[in-house]
Formats: sequence, structure tokens, C-alpha cells
Amino acid sequence: MRTPRPAAAIEAIPPTTPFIGPEELARGGGHPELLRLGANESAFGISCQALAAMQRELPRLSWYGDPESIDLREALAQRYQCRADNIVIASGIDDLMGLAVRSFLAPGSVALTTRGSYPTFNFHVIGYGGSLQCVDYTHEGQVDLEGLIGLAKRVNPAIVYVANPDNPSGSVHSRAAIQKLLDAIPAGTVLLLDEAYAEFTQDEFLLPHIIDKRLIRMRTFSKAYGMAGARIGYAITTPRIVATFQKIRLHYGVNRNAQVGALAALSDQPFLESVVAQVAEGREDYNELARSLGLPYLPSAANFVCIDLGSATRAKTMVTELLSRGVFIRKPTAPPLDRYVRVTVGTSAQRKAFARHFRELVDLTVPA
Ligand SMILES: *Cc1c(COP(=O)(O)O)cnc(C)c1O
Repeated sequence: MRTPRPAAAIEAIPPTTPFIGPEELARGGGHPELLRLGANESAFGISCQALAAMQRELPRLSWYGDPESIDLREALAQRYQCRADNIVIASGIDDLMGLAVRSFLAPGSVALTTRGSYPTFNFHVIGYGGSLQCVDYTHEGQVDLEGLIGLAKRVNPAIVYVANPDNPSGSVHSRAAIQKLLDAIPAGTVLLLDEAYAEFTQDEFLLPHIIDKRLIRMRTFSKAYGMAGARIGYAITTPRIVATFQKIRLHYGVNRNAQVGALAALSDQPFLESVVAQVAEGREDYNELARSLGLPYLPSAANFVCIDLGSATRAKTMVTELLSRGVFIRKPTAPPLDRYVRVTVGTSAQRKAFARHFRELVDLTVPA
């Protein structure tokens, strides 16, 4: 008897899980809940105004959200001095990356990224039958823009993916450097610019709000706005690319409540500023912790810090040992950053708890 089989291209994909979630890690270790410092979620919650707007909207949850997300797109257009047809809303950057890959990457064509950078992009590239090529981080732990430019000129990729600020390194490139990348990549290549952490860095470091036919910049309400569970983000790009995404995205894929919450969150600037300030303070605490232990760390422009444990083995042991104590952090996977652990900025109390465990474990784990 014949068995239904997945399409050959899909069946050929090895099983992949971009992330093992903290809930699963907690179940595995028998912890009711973990100290969540591993997924760069906000420890500072959500704007009260956003929360109130979502609570008010809840009784209307039997209705779909506006498939065009017009109110939110207009508010974003006003903020970025563009038009609503320059904005597309989706359920987070992870969703937008899938739309970009489906739109621009024909099966068999090439996408470029940084080895060990944010993995969901790779997951989409493989899932849609693309071929992934990687450039390593520089020795200093930065995204190697020159390396990406060089490889792009050789392989003529459909998409170059760059996160700026980057995850997991936390490093950021100047607007001039990103502009240079955009100018230097081949004419037919799309620059997929992931700005998930944009709010944590100053605007003058980021690319100005230009609309360019080769540029898709993506932002999210998951990080600084503290709405990761609501699943909502947006891309800023040309009306033509917006229209392309609109053709293939899920018509009702954006949660109604998330639309309302995001709109309210956008107008609560004082809340955002207070989160950004608290995160800056928390980063400095982690830097200080590393310094006091004689460990190098990477300067971060995001809501996490990478601390150097000298070897991948020791970094891995640290992650495992912390997990056994109910503390969830992650570590970069690829050299040269695999000897680091990455810890998300928590509240002051969470940072203290982390520091206590971390100090003990630094003493217990032997440098390789
Ligand atoms: C967290 C993160 C995302 C995920 O964003 P969502 O909007 O929650 O899908 C995307 N890119 C980077 C670099 C991230 O760190």
C-alpha cells in the first residue's frame, strides 16, 4: 500500500530545532520554572498602556484581526516618515524572514549569513530549498561585513542576512558600514537587515530610514517592547516588496490582540525609554561581573552580554550546570564565539541571582 510521503525536498531536510525552549528545558530537568535569561526576552514586562489596550480588546477575540493591520501600519509610517504601503506586519521577525526567503530565494539559489548568527534565517533557507553559505565572525566577535561583501561578489546570492545589532555577539556596525555593505553587494541581491535590537542602540548608529529596492529591514515588538509572546513585528521596505509579501503571507496570521497592543506600545515612549535605560544598566552589571572575574566580554548594543570562558567545553559546562540549578542561558554555537556564554539582561534581582551562581561555577569549572 502506498504511504503519503512529504515532498522529496522536505523529506531530505534533517530534523532541526532552531531552539529548545525554556519550557522544554524545565520539563527535562524537573524544574517548575527557570530563571529565564536565555532567550533575550524582556525582563521589564510590557507597557501598562499596551496591556490595558489588549485587555480591553480581549472580548472581541472572536473576530479576526484586520488583515491589513492598517492602524498599526499608519502609526509606523508616521514614525518612520514613510507610507503605510512601505510597511508589512507579520507575526514577528521569524515570520518575516520566511516571507523574504519564499519571495526571493528560488530553490537551489544561495543565501549568505554569518556562521553562528541568529539561526531562524538558516532554518527558512533550508526549509525552502535554498543553499546556505556562511562567513565566520571576525576574531573580535563582529559580523564580518568585508567577508560578506567578498563572498557575495563571488557567489551572487539572492539574499544576504545581517543582524545589526547582532545576536549572539551583541556587536553593532555603524550606519556607514551598513550603507557600504548595501552599496557593495551585487545589484540583484537583497539585504535582509534584522534590527530586532534596534531600540537598544542610538538611532544615529543605525541606517537612516531610507527605502531602497534592495533593502528589507525588520523590527519587532518582542524585545524592547516586551511582547515576545504576542508575536508581532514589521518590515520596512518598498511598496513592491510589501505587495509581494502580502500575496503569500497568512491573511489572518497576525493576532488581533497583538495588533492592538503594538499600536498602544508605540505611543508609550516613556516606557520604552525606561526599559532601554534599565537594560543599559544591566549590561554594565554583567560587564562588571566579567571584569571582576578576569573574564573578557563582548561590548553589547543589545539586551544581553557574551562572557568569554576561554573554551567551548567550559562554556558548555557552564550552560549545563546553570540549567541544573534552574538558570536558563544559552551559548553561541560556532567558533570563534563558542567559548562564550550569552546571558540576557534580567531585573536587578535576577542579575544578582545569576551572578551568585556564575561566580560559584566559574570557580568550580576548570579553564581548559
Ligand atoms: C529575538 C530575535 C528575533 C525574533 O524576533 P520575533 O519578532 O520574536 O520573531 C529575530 N532576530 C533576532 C536577531 C533576534 O534576536
